[in-house]
This record gives sequence, structure tokens and C-alpha cells, in this order.
Amino acid sequence: MVEKREIESLVRKHIESKFSSRKQKEYIVAANWKMNMSAKETRRFIEKVKEEKIPDYLKTVIFPPYPYLPIFQEMLRYDKITYGAQDVAKEEKGAYTGEVSAAMLADLGCSYVLAGHSERRNYYGETPEIVARKTAAALRYHIRPVVCIGETLEERQGNRYHEVLKVQLDAVRQEIGDALSDCIIAYEPVWAIGTGVIPGLDQIGETHRFIHELLVSYTGISERASRILYGGSVNEKNVKDIASVQFVDGFLIGGASLKAENFMNILRLLRVDGS
Ligand code: PEP
Repeated sequence: MVEKREIESLVRKHIESKFSSRKQKEYIVAANWKMNMSAKETRRFIEKVKEEKIPDYLKTVIFPPYPYLPIFQEMLRYDKITYGAQDVAKEEKGAYTGEVSAAMLADLGCSYVLAGHSERRNYYGETPEIVARKTAAALRYHIRPVVCIGETLEERQGNRYHEVLKVQLDAVRQEIGDALSDCIIAYEPVWAIGTGVIPGLDQIGETHRFIHELLVSYTGISERASRILYGGSVNEKNVKDIASVQFVDGFLIGGASLKAENFMNILRLLRVDGS
């Protein structure tokens, strides 16, 4: 006769083994260097990060300034650490002085491109339509766009942020249709970028859910196919808490990605073994 306690223990073991064999959640951890670093610092950074044991469930992407992309191509050719550009031209080719096309980025081995970072929208007049065309240009060359969307503080306080985020996403959808499901979305509240201020976890959760539901309603993509990163003052102190929020699939990190040690600490904090 089997004791009730033994049965309970067996059931518990069974549940635990199911739980531990469950696939580890993947995070995309992306570094946006903006207009920082030198060639020498870039090489040193890559050397250090390459030494780090990064598990497969932490997809690491670095967005250096354009001139350093060839260094990434040279040093990361057979590495699982990937890289991309911070911007791309909306046009294919031709007389567009100063622009860099998606074809050129593909030549340089870029897997990703940022589209519509708030600094581009605010300082360089990128409208939602321009961002949408840049997104489409990247997709034509099989480069995965990370489309950045976010509201200002005024829009948040005026409770207009849903509307603002929807306008930004709608423009992309209008341009590329269901290919929106091939994009990664980075939710970056403008008021959190470089300020040291982050939204409450409940605000991040609510906004990510809103974006997720919008994506699902647009593209019918499955529950887990949407990829929504959070960006804005992410650092070693807050990354774990934000990672626990539903529909947060990774991070776009500015300031805290400029020192290899800080960036690697963030990766370590996201490892299941935490080491
Ligand atoms: C960014 O610019 O994408 C960003 C998130 O910057 P920071 O982490 O410095 O706020």
C-alpha cells in the first residue's frame, strides 16, 4: 500500500521535473552606443564580451556607430554576439549624401537596425512615416528592425500615451503590413532615456501589454512571437525587476552599455544561475 505522503512526493517531483525542463525564457539584450566610443575602445569591449560565457537564451546585440561596424564584422564573424546599425537610409541608393543604405549594412554583416530612436525622431525630424520607410528598407535586406516607440512625459501625464504609441506603430504597419511580426519593438519612454528615471513596474507592464495586444490584433502573431524590449535608464540595479514583468522580452540599453563590465554584469544578472 503506497502512503499518501509518497504519492504527494512523487507528484511534486514530477511537477518539478516538468518545470525545470521548461524552455528558459529568451531575452534580447541590446546595447545602443549612440555617438560614443573610439576604435580602440570598441576592440577592447568586443574582446572582453567575447570572453564572457553568454547562454543561448540571452541574445546579445550591439549597435555601435557606423564607422566601427567593420570592426564588429572582423571580430565577431563566427560569434553568437550580433550587431547592427543605429540608423539606415529610407532610400535604396543614389544621391543621398551622408546616408547609409540597408544594402551597405547587409554587406557589413548587420543582423539588426534601430529605426525611429527618439533621438532621431526629436533631433532629426524623423516622422512616423520616415521611420516606417526605414523599417521597410531594412526588411528588404533581411535585417531585423528594432522599431523604437515611446511617449514624452507630457503625453504620459496627459494620458495620451496609448494614442501616441498607436500612431507610431500604425505608420509602420501601413508600410509593411504583416511583416510587422518580423520586427522587434523597443518601448522607450522618452522621459526615461538617459534620465535615471524609470516608470513603475506596473506602468511598464501595462504599456507592454498594450503594445503586445496591438501587435496581436494587427498581425495575428502568436502570444510568444511578439518581441517587445524595454529601454530607458536600464542598469544593473533595475534590470532583474524589469525582466520579471510580463511581455518584457529584453532591453535596449544606452548609458549602461558603454562599459563592458557594466554590460556584462547586466547579462550575468539575467542568467538563470545569476553567475
Ligand atoms: C537609449 O538611448 O536607447 C537608452 C535606452 O538610453 P539609456 O539606457 O541611457 O537611458
